Amino acid sequence: MDTRFFVIWMEEITAAVRAGRDHLTRLDAAIGDADHGTNLDRGFAAVAEALAARPPDTPGGVLVLAGSTLIRKVGGASGPLYGTAFRDMGKALGDAADVSAAELASALEAGLAGVRRLGGAEEGDKTMVDALAPAARAMARTVDAGGDPEEAFAAAAAAAEEGAKATVPLVARKGRASYLGARSAGHEDPGAASTALIVGALRAVAT
Ligand code: ADP
Ligand code: MG
Ligand code: MG
Repeated sequence: MDTRFFVIWMEEITAAVRAGRDHLTRLDAAIGDADHGTNLDRGFAAVAEALAARPPDTPGGVLVLAGSTLIRKVGGASGPLYGTAFRDMGKALGDAADVSAAELASALEAGLAGVRRLGGAEEGDKTMVDALAPAARAMARTVDAGGDPEEAFAAAAAAAEEGAKATVPLVARKGRASYLGARSAGHEDPGAASTALIVGALRAVAT
């Protein structure tokens, strides 16, 4: 996967977040403050602008620029968390010009570690971690088993979607939804749903 692959991944995310904006905001209206879709739409539109204005020349550079832009442009909890995830993924890739599926899988694990470090959420706390952690595991497992990138992306996307759906019955222990206590149960976590879009967008990028 080269620099172009990562730029197209960011473009696919921008399109998926734009298409899913109102759905994400409705999820956040149920257990948060109804801004998750607009937060991410604003953030990824800014990522697209930043990539066009200052095109990076490495995969890591694309992800670091995306991360720092999200941190700057998205006010909510998700901005610093996704910003850290992309930035830490980018740092994990270093200045390599081409990235293998195994390297992308370990970068995804680095992104997950960054989210955990910053937000302190464990799996089961009803956050984006509930989608990101199984996605990182599925990608690593598929790559270890000798799967090609397409298989690894499909497995990661399916695991993220499943993880997001599995947040429905959970009681939130982190973020705004945790203020609702037991009333947060019965709704999908918006950040887990957006993580499924972000990971799912990998499938749309031709390798
Ligand atoms: P805000 O809650 O500040 O309005 P958003 O609505 O953009 O921010 O994002 C909310 C999402 O952020 C939640 O659905 C959850 O997935 C995620 N989130 C919030 N707090 C944490 C945390 N401490 N760790 C991991 N994810 C979190
Ligand atoms: Mg919100
Ligand atoms: Mg908010």
